[in-house]
Amino acid sequence: MSRNLGRTDCAVCDAGHDDIALCEQPRPITERDAGRYYAEYKDRLIVANAECTTCGAKYLAWISIHRTVIDRQGTNFDNSFGVRFCDISFRSTFNDEPGPDDLPSLTKLREIEMKRWTSRAHELTDQLDEVRERLDAHVAELGSLRSRWESYL
Ligand SMILES: [Zn+2]
Repeated sequence: MSRNLGRTDCAVCDAGHDDIALCEQPRPITERDAGRYYAEYKDRLIVANAECTTCGAKYLAWISIHRTVIDRQGTNFDNSFGVRFCDISFRSTFNDEPGPDDLPSLTKLREIEMKRWTSRAHELTDQLDEVRERLDAHVAELGSLRSRWESYL
């Protein structure tokens, strides 16, 4: 088990980095975030609560792990929602395993899967239509070659 997931996309629904949105101003980590690991990260980790905009999974985004950032900028990050992050933890557990509160409902996950499969089915139908059109074109070409060949007999 690790404190961080070592990724910045959604570990629950695979939505991309840009789909993870910060819910608040970046700030130094608190005991409430880190629990018994607070002493280890105190004064050296800037975080913000974050959420996947696709599935709603709840994360703690790691904005910076350098003490110097706190020293230089204090706790006032003016560009809050433009700030990018370099890693994430699940919010309620402060590790790479989600707690029940971090996860979207099964209904929501099913809805996301259905959307993905529906969109995949549309893609495949489009591809099939293309293959059919090409096949029709080949059959027509073959027909014209055949009638040309028969005219030589
Ligand atoms: Zn997600």
